[in-house]
Amino acid sequence: MTTDELQKLDNDLEQEEKNLIDQLNRIANKNPLASGDFTVRTPSYGNEDDENAQEITDLDKNFALTQELETKLNSIRKTRQKIKDGTYGKCDNCGSEIPSERLKAMPEAIRCITCAV
Ligand SMILES: [Zn+2]
Repeated sequence: MTTDELQKLDNDLEQEEKNLIDQLNRIANKNPLASGDFTVRTPSYGNEDDENAQEITDLDKNFALTQELETKLNSIRKTRQKIKDGTYGKCDNCGSEIPSERLKAMPEAIRCITCAV
């Protein structure tokens, strides 16, 4: 990858990082002690039975969503760190070059296919 391509990728990832944080802020509170860790907020719609039931349904849904978003956020941060370190495109586990087709399909891949499974 050329420096320009890496720069563009980093910009894209930065944008995605912001989007993920926005989404997380809507449903969860940031843990001030651990970067990239969020705690789901309990929604509050009211005290009626159906409102309470909806709160529990949404809390459940948001809990799963928060974990998914956190995972994505952390992998984007790792990828951006690798771009900064100049190790982007190398497998984190075995150090071999990750094929460019894989990186195109999944820019945040930090491991080669063999090590990812
Ligand atoms: Zn590997």
